Amino acid sequence: MANTRYDLIVIGSGPGGYVAAIRASQLKMKVAVVERDRPGGVCLNWGCIPSKALLNSAEAMETIRGAAKEHGIEVGAVSVDFKKVIARSRAAADKLARGVRFLLKKNNVDFIEADAAIAGPNRVALTQAPDKPAPPAAVLEADKILIAAGSSERLFADMKIGDGVMTSKEALVNDTLPKSVVIIGAGAIGLEFGYFYQAFGCAVTIVELERQMLPGCDAEVAEELHRTFVKRKVQVMLGHGYKSMAKNGGAWTVTLDAAGATKSVEGEAVLVAVGRTPLSARIGLDTAGVELERGGFIKVDDSFRTSVPTIYAIGDVIRPPLLAHKASAEGIAAVEIMAGVREPGFDLLAIPACVYCEPEVATVGLSEADARARGIEVKVGKMPLRAIGKAVAIGHADGFVKLVAEKKYGEVIGCQIIGYGATDMIAEVALGKSLEATTEEFGKLAHPHPSMSEAIMEAALAADGEAINF
Ligand SMILES: Cc1cc2nc3c(=O)[nH]c(=O)nc-3n(C[C@H](O)[C@H](O)[C@H](O)COP(=O)(O)OP(=O)(O)OC[C@H]3O[C@@H](n4cnc5c(N)ncnc54)[C@H](O)[C@@H]3O)c2cc1C
Repeated sequence: MANTRYDLIVIGSGPGGYVAAIRASQLKMKVAVVERDRPGGVCLNWGCIPSKALLNSAEAMETIRGAAKEHGIEVGAVSVDFKKVIARSRAAADKLARGVRFLLKKNNVDFIEADAAIAGPNRVALTQAPDKPAPPAAVLEADKILIAAGSSERLFADMKIGDGVMTSKEALVNDTLPKSVVIIGAGAIGLEFGYFYQAFGCAVTIVELERQMLPGCDAEVAEELHRTFVKRKVQVMLGHGYKSMAKNGGAWTVTLDAAGATKSVEGEAVLVAVGRTPLSARIGLDTAGVELERGGFIKVDDSFRTSVPTIYAIGDVIRPPLLAHKASAEGIAAVEIMAGVREPGFDLLAIPACVYCEPEVATVGLSEADARARGIEVKVGKMPLRAIGKAVAIGHADGFVKLVAEKKYGEVIGCQIIGYGATDMIAEVALGKSLEATTEEFGKLAHPHPSMSEAIMEAALAADGEAINF
């Protein structure tokens, strides 16, 4: 007879849910995870991992097509088997999904394949999910329930997926390369796919309602990114809002509004990347009395507790930023708070945000504009990568590091990086920031030479007027 009573039931096995479940098991809770799709959630199956595999193929393509010559390497005619590109990315997702199943088992977490709905403060109802076996029981009981149900793609009301119209999910499995694509949305997902398709020779148009790429990001970073996309011959249309779309012959015509004027663009395919919606509907939250807030996110307190004291929630389903490592960090925090080994509270400003196109973008904490808007007096150190030995040596000298520090004591409160290796470099600043490190401490720490990370050291020195190499 299967277990039906647990200390904790987690709904969803994404980077929020499976990580929380493992940590809870380490903290001696008896845990089950209920998942209706594949282990690993959006991140491993339909998000971070397969998209980064594709971007890695794009980088290989760019090296072969572009940079090889600079290295004195002559390459003959290049052809692409796009089906293989997609298959390689799916294989990476499959491997990691199997890994999550293994990790849950290794940590004594019961993995239950079913569609879950809250049936009361301590009850979770299970129904059979598509293509899955019948669940082991109709209802499970638990002292606590953790909702980690994630989010799904957002569409405009008149859009229907198919016939060349895709969200990121379809784009990740579509193994026919379109000749042209209109991407609606210049956020992280739109830009990553824009870079990917362009690298494989597809004509890319990116449309964005706001006046900058990566709305909300530091304006200088957004401008630099815009410049590089334009240089790559991507058509970028900022300040253009989606109005409608219609199929004419073999192509889609997308009609746009630009401050009252109507414009249109054409593409064989259309990729909609206009954000994601929390999956808070249809999981019994209303029956249980779990309150939602604006945008359909589940409302939680600083212990990740919902309006029902036995029910907790984390990850994409509770609030932006919708990021995998935020979901994991919240999952660990939630179960540690439940177990009484951690104080309530969570610092969203400690969460780095990354975009993996080329050049990469990575940020953490406050931008200069954000800090000033909060009335914080700041000093800023900026270091172009062209001043960094390794960046020049490896031919990735575009971009910069910008460090934002509070003026009086020099405590680093934010960082924005655009350039090669940005998404790895940001971890140093995230750690330093969480330890309240100052520009002096970043600047005086010997960084390995040559390395891209020297740009952080030099940016810190620049904030104090002491830059050596620029
Ligand atoms: C194309 C793309 C690229 C991305 N790239 C990055 C990136 O590079 N870095 C990054 O940090 N983030 C990235 N993200 C975002 C990241 O994937 C999400 O922030 C992350 O997956 C959220 O984790 P989660 O655990 O909250 O939810 P999810 O990963 O969405 O997992 C939720 C799980 O719950 C399951 N579920 C939902 N409802 C039920 C139910 N009723 N019963 C049973 N199971 C249920 C779902 O099937 C799903 O498996 C990307 C997203 C996309 C779409």
